[in-house]
Amino acid sequence: MMNVKTRLEGRIKVPYKWSVGETGSRFLIALRDRCEIWGTRCPTCNRVYVPPVQNCGECFQPLEEWVSVGSGGVVESFTVARQPDPMFDLEPPVVYGLIRLDDAAGSLLHFIGEIEPEHVRVGMRVRAVFAGPVLDEEYGGRFAGEIGRLASFARWLPAIDPREMAAAYDEVDVVLNTSFSEGLANTLLEAMAAGVPVITSDR
Ligand SMILES: [Zn+2]
Repeated sequence: MMNVKTRLEGRIKVPYKWSVGETGSRFLIALRDRCEIWGTRCPTCNRVYVPPVQNCGECFQPLEEWVSVGSGGVVESFTVARQPDPMFDLEPPVVYGLIRLDDAAGSLLHFIGEIEPEHVRVGMRVRAVFAGPVLDEEYGGRFAGEIGRLASFARWLPAIDPREMAAAYDEVDVVLNTSFSEGLANTLLEAMAAGVPVITSDR
């Protein structure tokens, strides 16, 4: 057996660009700019492919018709990752699911959130949730209206620097957690550590 006496640490740079092509670009741009999921429909067998492909896998027809599909679907398969993945800034455990959208052929791989991993099941219904900057202006408007309505007794806080958190907890009377699925969020642990009463679900 070889006896390794020296260990060298280093990084190898492998810069590359990968093009998703014409079909993939159209799909990703609709997702990015309009929060819409589009597929291609086969004129012969009517299958709708999501993610979209250029030729039908069953009848080999070229696919030129684009259709928008809804955001609802079913979990076809899933796995729970319990080790952190340096590619994603997500706290494990993380659930990866293969999602078949309603009326679509093919599956999309995505995270499944807002649920404890042990409650995820094959066949469970899920819905795509778009996060990030508010792209849906109608929703953004309603949200801003609600915040305004609550202004007499609640305050919408922007992101707080972690170094300022202790001071932020000092300012509040109580921390209310309105999530049903995240019963023990870090916010609650921090609030309790800061001596602030909390109200949350026991789920
Ligand atoms: Zn076909």
